[in-house]
Amino acid sequence: MPNMDLQEQLRLLYELQQIDAEILTLNNKLKSVPLKIKRAEEQLQVHQQKLQAKQSQLADTEKVQRSKTAELEMEGEQRIKYETQLREVKSNKEYQALDKEISFIQEKEVEIEDEILSAMLQIDQLNEELTQQQTELDAEKEKHNVQIAGYEQETKDLKAEIVTWSGKRKGFSHQIDSGLMEQYQAQFKRYRKGLVALVVENACGNCHLTIPPQTLQEARRYGQFIRCGSCRLILYIPPPSPDDASVEVPTSGSQS
Ligand SMILES: [Zn+2]
Repeated sequence: MPNMDLQEQLRLLYELQQIDAEILTLNNKLKSVPLKIKRAEEQLQVHQQKLQAKQSQLADTEKVQRSKTAELEMEGEQRIKYETQLREVKSNKEYQALDKEISFIQEKEVEIEDEILSAMLQIDQLNEELTQQQTELDAEKEKHNVQIAGYEQETKDLKAEIVTWSGKRKGFSHQIDSGLMEQYQAQFKRYRKGLVALVVENACGNCHLTIPPQTLQEARRYGQFIRCGSCRLILYIPPPSPDDASVEVPTSGSQS
């Protein structure tokens, strides 16, 4: 006659183990979410930085345009001054000197005008590129927001699932013998694995070693805890289902 109490203890512990493994998996998933959010944010930042670089390039070019325009104005004022003087000079030598200065300024003016024109063309080009990049960034932001909302939902879902599983755990964990529970908790904390292995088709559900018939018999008797000869987990053989003589053997083994 098997020791029903010991069998029941193992059944409860096995169930608890499955729940803890589930909670552990969910917690690991939960922990990975912030990293996914961080990666998404970094990706968006790359796009933002590209736009900012273009914006500062535009600002620089506009600055060049402004300073060249100011320079052109200054040269123009100087030229007008010389041209006024030119009308009042007495000697031929003075006239020639001023005329030379004026020609020199005129050459400079042409040069500056070219530079202003080139800056303006560049500004047009940059503005066009900026519009394009802004459109791209807007699309990226939209995509990003959807992604983040997805991660936020995932976090919520995971937390809710953890709460559900923790509730289930609380429902029966007090029925497990405190000594057995302590042993289990120490094992789970240290190795992230359970204390009990479900016997599946006469093999250990944890390490899949075939269990000798003698050991199986002892395990079925539940006189004491019988451990797997390989992985040392306590063997748990579920009682046969009363409605079904040919018991469906669960395929999910113990987590390793
Ligand atoms: Zn084993």
